Amino acid sequence: MDEFLETVWLLKEENNNSYDALLKSQPKKTQVVKALDEAIAQKLVEKDGNKIEFTPNGENQAKEIIRRHRLAERLFSEVFGLKEDDYESTACSFEHILEPEVTESICTFLGHPPTCPHGKPIPKGPCCLKNHKEMKPLVVPLTELGLGEKGGIVFITPKYHSRLDRLNVLGVCPGQVLRLHQKSPSFVIKVDETEIAIDKEIAKEIYVKRL
Ligand SMILES: [Zn+2]
Ligand SMILES: [Zn+2]
Repeated sequence: MDEFLETVWLLKEENNNSYDALLKSQPKKTQVVKALDEAIAQKLVEKDGNKIEFTPNGENQAKEIIRRHRLAERLFSEVFGLKEDDYESTACSFEHILEPEVTESICTFLGHPPTCPHGKPIPKGPCCLKNHKEMKPLVVPLTELGLGEKGGIVFITPKYHSRLDRLNVLGVCPGQVLRLHQKSPSFVIKVDETEIAIDKEIAKEIYVKRL
């Protein structure tokens, strides 16, 4: 059922949650039809004409699975440095077993990342909304650093891909160490011997580990 709800979520993200698209999403049609019947019986989804829609209950359940999957991807790719094939399969197993408290800890530990390594949004959890202060996040947006503080770049979540390329050219990429020199009117960071000025909007997208 988890896999089925995940599939519907992914189709919905692409605005493609039709019955036909659902059938095409898996190699075995009979299995999809069976899962759909089961999900309808459990009141997790509804079939509205050709559209498959979540019930509030089903949507919540799917949101949690996606959240666990994408947080696990971030954890295994960024913190443990696994390659895509490995973190992908590991995330697929972790999405079924992470307890809510563990999920919140991972999210807080990673600084409540907005996206997975593929750039897909991570649904927010209670920890992101309440801005818990008890556990100090290990990874924070660059904007949280103090003047003169050093940080190691852990990941970057650019709104536009071209930004990532531009930052890359300047040597601003995961694994690099930066020092924050100035916060206003714009952010100035020093990477190696180069000073780079960036907008606050971009600084918010660079996640660093305090050093
Ligand atoms: Zn992903
Ligand atoms: Zn969070």
